[in-house]
Amino acid sequence: MNIKQTVTDLNHLLNHSTIKTNEPLNKYTYTETGGPADLYITVHDIDDAAAVIKYCHENHVPVTYLGNGSNIIIRDGGIRGVVLNVLELNTMSEENNIISAGSGCPIIDVSRYAKELSLTGLEFACGIPGSVGGAIYMNAGAYGGEVKDCLLDVTVIDTSGNIFTLTTDELELDYRKSAIQENDYVVVEARFKMEHGSIEEITAMMDDLTNRRESKQPLEYPSCGSVFQRPPGNFAGKLIQDAGLQGYRVGGVEVSKKHAGFMVNVDRGTASDYETLISHVQDVIFEKFNVHLNREVRIIGESL
Ligand SMILES: Cc1cc2nc3c(=O)[nH]c(=O)nc-3n(C[C@H](O)[C@H](O)[C@H](O)COP(=O)(O)OP(=O)(O)OC[C@H]3O[C@@H](n4cnc5c(N)ncnc54)[C@H](O)[C@@H]3O)c2cc1C
Repeated sequence: MNIKQTVTDLNHLLNHSTIKTNEPLNKYTYTETGGPADLYITVHDIDDAAAVIKYCHENHVPVTYLGNGSNIIIRDGGIRGVVLNVLELNTMSEENNIISAGSGCPIIDVSRYAKELSLTGLEFACGIPGSVGGAIYMNAGAYGGEVKDCLLDVTVIDTSGNIFTLTTDELELDYRKSAIQENDYVVVEARFKMEHGSIEEITAMMDDLTNRRESKQPLEYPSCGSVFQRPPGNFAGKLIQDAGLQGYRVGGVEVSKKHAGFMVNVDRGTASDYETLISHVQDVIFEKFNVHLNREVRIIGESL
């Protein structure tokens, strides 16, 4: 990719977007790791998002989508091509108990907005630090609820720049899985079908979940939440705790002493520290319990 030419071309095509070159990505991730993006583009409307994707498709420029950066480790060498940020697509509205939200809205804000309207269904999401787009991509869930339960439909852009809507069934949502992942769609908008409820009960439930989260999770440190998926019939955190791995450290990253399912960046850790620690934990758990821990966190980009 000729970076200068790509910037010139995209500046002609885009109306309301900003393009940064050689942009460090550690400031956009919850682990605070990640090298630079060749081009970091923040789009302010759906047409600009489609224009970037179409241009990149036609010119063989790789595109990576970034939401709130709360479930991703970007390697220390960064990302070649374009990193597309859709967080400015962040309007919310409600009609007939259906909430429409741009993909950049924090799912926490959508959950709070629903509460203000006495709408129930998104209480489980009140502490998940992702965007609407990232939450749909991962079918995020907590405390027995998941995005799938109240999602009505989603507007996406495909890799050629076409914009269309998919129903929840078409998204094939499953445990931390969606058809968005295989098809490389970018989510730009979503509609959630909510039920009318009691504001007191919704508030009580959200307060309870927030207290549980704050008492159990190491929210004072950078992290990516639960590093591993739940293995069938077990809990990753319990296995890691039983293996005595809490506090085990590689470079600046350690297995949290507060919640064994989390790995916290305690001292300027790198993505490489994270990867080494993740592999070590996987090896130990397999050796001790014959269980393979699959990663929940996405790891992307180039090593140094
Ligand atoms: C402290 C903490 C607690 C957490 N608790 C939970 C929890 O309880 N439950 C849970 O499920 N997760 C939890 N997570 C993980 C994370 O918040 C969720 O997975 C969230 O849905 C990720 O959204 P994001 O916007 O941050 O996505 P990112 O981390 O930015 O990206 C994750 C993936 O989604 C893709 N993506 C992002 N936006 C879009 C888009 N618009 N279109 C297409 N693809 C996109 C990215 O390409 C990437 O592959 C937690 C994380 C932290 C740090």
